Amino acid sequence: MNVLVISDIHANLDALTAVLNDAQDFDAVWCLGDIIGYGPEPNECIQVVKKLPGLVCVLGNHDTAALGRINTLLFNQEAQQSMTWLKANLTDESIKFLEGIHEKEVLELATLVHGSPFNPVWEYILDPYIAKSNFQHFSTPFCFVGHTHQPIICSLKKDNEQLMWKQPKFGFEYVFEEKTILNPGSVGQPRDYDPRASYGLFNTETKSWKVKRVEYDIATAQDKIIQKKLPTRHAQRLSGGW
Ligand code: ZN
Repeated sequence: MNVLVISDIHANLDALTAVLNDAQDFDAVWCLGDIIGYGPEPNECIQVVKKLPGLVCVLGNHDTAALGRINTLLFNQEAQQSMTWLKANLTDESIKFLEGIHEKEVLELATLVHGSPFNPVWEYILDPYIAKSNFQHFSTPFCFVGHTHQPIICSLKKDNEQLMWKQPKFGFEYVFEEKTILNPGSVGQPRDYDPRASYGLFNTETKSWKVKRVEYDIATAQDKIIQKKLPTRHAQRLSGGW
């Protein structure tokens, strides 16, 4: 089975559309949270995501905040501002969809979370030290995470000592023997200074993983942010990939 792995769409429909067109051939979709927040088209993105084949989805911190389960004072000022806009604009149908999503999904091969298996909604796996402490918190061969908006591969050797931590080469196929944490990067707001939308393809038979980047119409996405009077910084960062 070919699985499209996406995360942190952040209401960027232009980026999501480009990813779906580029990925083309997939049997299922694993979505690692933060479908909404920051961007201008939250309901539209939810509409697209909910119709994807074989969808398994987990909640991100922005999704959770939109449901009123997180105090938005924990967000920075601009994220708070967009959260206020989001809560005013989210449809009942979108809320209903988000309410049906869990923080963690444990499948046969993989554990899916937004942040980390230890703290599914909030913890950022930003470095090898945090990654290593998380291997004891999942028992499947793979754990897929998002949240940092940076693609990463992290494997732990069988002796539980040696850790491999690296940025994937885009378009290159990796195959794993060891327990591995994989981050596909962000569809709608990459933060590795590469503004192209990021996503992953995982094959459950060969256990192979590929991260791909695809260009999308950033100017149009930025215009929508400005038109909807969301913080202009959210528009600016899209062209820089930060
Ligand atoms: Zn995010």
